Amino acid sequence: MPAVKAIVAELPTTPLVRNWSLQDVDVGSPGDDEVLVELYASGICQSDILLGSLPSGAVGVEYPKIVGHEGAGVVQEVGKNVQSVAVGDPVVLSFSSCESCAQCEESHPAYCEDFKPRNYRGKLESTKMSSSGEKVWTEFFGQSSFSQLSVVNKTSIVNVKGLIHDLSELKLFAPLGCGFQTGMGAVQNVAQVTPKDVVLISGLGAVGMGAVMTAAIEQCKTIIAVDRVKSRLDSARKAGATHVINTSDPSFTNLDEAVRALVPGGVSIAIDATGAAEIIEQSMKATRKRGKMILVGVPPLDYFVHIRGTDILNSGRSVAGCLVGDCDSQVAIPQIIKWYREGKFPIDQCVQSFDAVEYEKALESFKNGETIKPVLVWKE
Ligand SMILES: [Zn+2]
Ligand SMILES: [Zn+2]
Repeated sequence: MPAVKAIVAELPTTPLVRNWSLQDVDVGSPGDDEVLVELYASGICQSDILLGSLPSGAVGVEYPKIVGHEGAGVVQEVGKNVQSVAVGDPVVLSFSSCESCAQCEESHPAYCEDFKPRNYRGKLESTKMSSSGEKVWTEFFGQSSFSQLSVVNKTSIVNVKGLIHDLSELKLFAPLGCGFQTGMGAVQNVAQVTPKDVVLISGLGAVGMGAVMTAAIEQCKTIIAVDRVKSRLDSARKAGATHVINTSDPSFTNLDEAVRALVPGGVSIAIDATGAAEIIEQSMKATRKRGKMILVGVPPLDYFVHIRGTDILNSGRSVAGCLVGDCDSQVAIPQIIKWYREGKFPIDQCVQSFDAVEYEKALESFKNGETIKPVLVWKE
């Protein structure tokens, strides 16, 4: 098979500083439980940057590796144990799960007992550097979508044949496998909102925007969106936020106070998609009795949530974690596509495409907040 282009993450010389470059790689055939996918596009998510720059060994990460955990493409080859797709089918990629542990059997694959090795570490099998022959870690989140061609785990594949109008839509649907799905699931699966809910959503990347859109679909009576970038707050308003709080506004002092100025009684649901300790603490304070605080953004590893036991007891408040929205991608991704068609989940307003070779430009635009969801295009 001819060499293809991929973004390869090499061992960082400085921890947490990316050492990525566009390289030629040779991709082999899929195993029995795998599928070879020609990627049309891949979304960039914050976890690519984090897990593609950790020191070697942290959460099982090794180098060189190909990250990318949102993608869409067309099936080129199918392993013999795979029944869900055929050659030529368009697919959207999501996370990988074992399908046999207790969590998977109870339809909570995001909490698969095997999640870390399957998703953060991946496999050292199918792919090697064309220049040196060195093997490359792939199947990051079962997929390693930052590549023109990738061997993907069968559990990461969502067949979208019949759901898309033409292959050009793969660019738009490429990012559904992580960020948008996570935000949607935080509201629908974890918060289980009703129209009575007053919802606070902090951090308006794809996760926060997906949460705002879903809260609007569920007709939550108040939806407060928080960010430090005005253009994102404007997008959130268009997506259904009833109020916005700009944390970079000179008059802003703290989130609890800003929320209480809008809803004196506090919020029933607070979703944090920033991972910032201060925002988490303040969001928690802004919840009313029986309120629910949901952690979605990744906080610093040494951050501990401070809650007094008696406060939790007396107030009936709860704190929940949320990984990939507790979603089953086979259900969540078709649902989001359906909502998009109905004009209720306007992902097109959040997505910006970049030629894959210009990934540094995409990352810069992502970092400075101009782009909510950058998508790398491998094939038009
Ligand atoms: Zn499992
Ligand atoms: Zn992600």
